[in-house]
Amino acid sequence: MKRRDILKRLSIAPLAGAALAGGLQPGTATAAPLSVKRDVFKELGLRTFINAAGNYTTMTASLMPDDVMAAIQSSSKEFVMLEEVQDKVGQKIAELCHAEAALVTAGCWSALVLGTAGVLTGNDPKKVALLPKLEGSGMKSEVIIQKTHINGYHHAVTNTGASVITVETAEEAEGAINDKTAMMWFLNREAPVGKIQHQQWLDIAKKHNIPTMIDIAADVPPVENLWKYNKMGFDLVCISGGKAMCGPQSAGILMGKKDLIEAARLNGPPRGGNIGRGMKVNKEEIIGMYVALDSYIKRDHAMEWKIWEERIAVINNAVKSVPGVTTEVIVPPVANHTPSLEITWDPSKVKETRDGFGERLRKGSPSIEVIAWEKENSIRLTVFMLKPGQEKVVAKRIREELVKASV
Ligand SMILES: *Cc1c(COP(=O)(O)O)cnc(C)c1O
Repeated sequence: MKRRDILKRLSIAPLAGAALAGGLQPGTATAAPLSVKRDVFKELGLRTFINAAGNYTTMTASLMPDDVMAAIQSSSKEFVMLEEVQDKVGQKIAELCHAEAALVTAGCWSALVLGTAGVLTGNDPKKVALLPKLEGSGMKSEVIIQKTHINGYHHAVTNTGASVITVETAEEAEGAINDKTAMMWFLNREAPVGKIQHQQWLDIAKKHNIPTMIDIAADVPPVENLWKYNKMGFDLVCISGGKAMCGPQSAGILMGKKDLIEAARLNGPPRGGNIGRGMKVNKEEIIGMYVALDSYIKRDHAMEWKIWEERIAVINNAVKSVPGVTTEVIVPPVANHTPSLEITWDPSKVKETRDGFGERLRKGSPSIEVIAWEKENSIRLTVFMLKPGQEKVVAKRIREELVKASV
């Protein structure tokens, strides 16, 4: 080979290698240089907004922090076995949350479905294949729920084919137990309005050897709730990953007893021929969920709470002096347990409806979403999803609109 030819080859080879490493197929056009940033929101004509409402699925719930995104990015570069990812991440999550075992699911809803399915089928693949048809299968078919805990999310439990038996008192709960009883389900958010509290619910279930499940979807903070209900004795605990923990919105965690988690896994992906095959979580999200949980636990929660209180004070101070306006700081006892500000106006002094006010904030610049669907002549807002400094913008905009609508 001539020297010139060798030089030619050398100059071509690294380029070809770089193109392949960058994911380009040989012969395809080169991709746009990385320095040109593609603004997909703009390209699609999507409205972005300041989220002063909270972790609402309709509003895409939460923003994933950089460490979660970095984990998602880096884990997207190699192949691994999906089941091994679930094994390893499950072990870590179980340790962090003081559970025997854990599984990353496609949100809390899918944790409810897969967990219930596992309770029904155990580790019998024939039963797994039969769901949601329970009739004549030999499987148990009834789930006991307090009447006040029925609010739509229980539909996940009935996706398995199980039916709901509602009860109000402890006597009724115990009386409802029979040989078809598969599980007793508790919705933590509704605990304050239920007649039966956690320990009594567990005592009844344990006495009759009935598995228990609790839905704590939106119930961190406080961070301790991540292990509180495992330690209390619930056999299965279900939580959302994309709410206050700021994990992927389409991820959640099912944790609890080892045999039940194993049974739940038989009812979901990557296996087919079951009711859960569509509830897939990719490796990036499973790993993103783990990193989100880990860093959520390590946050300075007291400091974070102080920051939220300060943000609420900034907004409160800006709006409470508008004539006819009253404010109240509200901390929900369970679920979205974070300081919120309720702003109420006297409609004879501020001429705007609740819906109209929500629309003014939405259409303003920058666009802001608040909770504008609870009480008449009133909006409520939270500050835990704000980026630093956005509280000033929210304060200014709400004050402006209140003053504008004042008579
Ligand atoms: C949000 C929520 C769910 C559903 O959780 P996803 O993570 O969105 O699937 C279930 N139960 C309750 C009480 C919730 O608040």
